[in-house]
Amino acid sequence: MKSVVIKQPNELVIEERPLPMPAAGEVRVNVKLAGICGSDSHIYRGHNPFAHYPRTIGHEFFGEIDAVGEGVNRSRLGQRVSVDPVISCGHCYPCSVGKPNVCTSLVVLGVHRDGGFSEYAVVPAHNAWPIPDAIADKHAVMVEPFTIAANVTGQIAPTEQDVALIYGAGPMGLVTVQALKGVYKVKLVIVVDRIDERLAMAQRSGADWVINNGERSLQAALDERGIMPTIVIDAACHPSILQEAITLASPAARIVLMGFSSEASQIVQQAITGKELSIFSSRLNANKFRVVIDWLEKGLIDPEKLITHTFDYHHVTDAIELFEKDQRQCCKVLLTFSQ
Ligand SMILES: [Zn+2]
Ligand SMILES: [Zn+2]
Repeated sequence: MKSVVIKQPNELVIEERPLPMPAAGEVRVNVKLAGICGSDSHIYRGHNPFAHYPRTIGHEFFGEIDAVGEGVNRSRLGQRVSVDPVISCGHCYPCSVGKPNVCTSLVVLGVHRDGGFSEYAVVPAHNAWPIPDAIADKHAVMVEPFTIAANVTGQIAPTEQDVALIYGAGPMGLVTVQALKGVYKVKLVIVVDRIDERLAMAQRSGADWVINNGERSLQAALDERGIMPTIVIDAACHPSILQEAITLASPAARIVLMGFSSEASQIVQQAITGKELSIFSSRLNANKFRVVIDWLEKGLIDPEKLITHTFDYHHVTDAIELFEKDQRQCCKVLLTFSQ
């Protein structure tokens, strides 16, 4: 089989590898589609501290089960599945409180273990989530990105009376916009970014109001309308955002961080306690595949609005470069494998 392998930072090859056999409790997935995410590019460029090389990247993928290991029901052969990349031990403290995404021995497919940019991938059987026939292949491959949003909203339980401010109209921001509007019917969703084309994508995904903070002050724009957000989500992930979020937030607001910056954020306690703000963080997803498959079945979200490009996997380098360089036109880039 062919796999997309990062041999070392900045060296990507499409390599012939032996067809893997599923071990006990595992299934083999004949991959049909995979999505490119920022973390794939970070591993390619050597910017992901968790990655070991060589590595088959890809943690957003969809395909069909074509072999099962010992102890897995053979009725699963032929099943269409999306794969949850989070592999957890099931018994440590975070696992015991429903947060397998931060398991003390966490393994993420495509990061710590070979992932889905490959003609075949072997994964634990319970990580392969059956996809109902009514959900198209290219929507099924988008389940994982939407689980990022499901994990955020799972932390803060949005209601219709919330006013949400989202920093960043990249893929993570946009899936969150769709969840807040489509699933939770939040009355006002505001998106701030410095790229107009991305703000236009946010509007297509349901944002009620978009602000280009490269052109005008966000604080002034909100003050003008007397708006204090009750939810602030940082999907832009810059260390300076946290203090601004604290300043802009309504009393009793919830703030969610999604970033991985290792730089310090300078913050002042006073407004956090003065307004009794709750600050959450969100990483990957904690058992959210079932939730998102349900959203898709009910038509509450529309992955179509986020898919901007599709490439055959032989052109994976072009696809990743486009994803990295063209933030104006590009949102989700898909790779096709065996069709
Ligand atoms: Zn991702
Ligand atoms: Zn665990």
